[in-house]
Amino acid sequence: MAVIGILALQGDFEKHALMIQKLGHETVFVKDQIALNKCDRLIIPGGESTTFLKLIDRLNLRKVLIDFGAAKPVFGTCAGLIILAKEVINDNFKPLGLIDIEVSRNAYGRQIDSFIDDVNLDFNGAKESYEAIFIRAPKIIKCFEGVRHLACHMDDIVMAANKNILVASFHPELTDDLKIHDFFINHFAREGQ
Ligand code: GLN
Repeated sequence: MAVIGILALQGDFEKHALMIQKLGHETVFVKDQIALNKCDRLIIPGGESTTFLKLIDRLNLRKVLIDFGAAKPVFGTCAGLIILAKEVINDNFKPLGLIDIEVSRNAYGRQIDSFIDDVNLDFNGAKESYEAIFIRAPKIIKCFEGVRHLACHMDDIVMAANKNILVASFHPELTDDLKIHDFFINHFAREGQ
């Protein structure tokens, strides 16, 4: 059984915990370094990335999170993707820079433009369709060298990975499908991959 931390400063952390518990793993809500030290993997959930980053800096968690992501797997969903990116083009804030992607925030429009649509997953050696929920989602506008594309929606990459870092611009915790969490916990960044 793995211990999966969920950064619980803000946003949509409880639904992730339910999914992880359904998969038989332990969850820890992370608000400080002591909690983070107990974790094998970490999820940074959706929410408001500007608020998240302010809290991360106020609580002195920036370096701790960067060090964690260099050593252990981290999964960022929606705002979590923005926080993990190297560059955010339309805002003057500094993300953690753990994955070499360039991101545009709120690229699909406002809350009212949120949508559900099928995306094409391409991981675990299988290609399949998956119903994804996008809420004021960011767009990955550039993936630099080494970044793997794990899902796309039309022409956009909506899930990507590099080294220990996995990101998705949608909300896998809001469906009943455990596939994406199962991938992150049981298959992603395992030795030999
Ligand atoms: N629009 C939010 C942001 O920029 C992200 C939305 C979400 O996480 N659902 O931070």
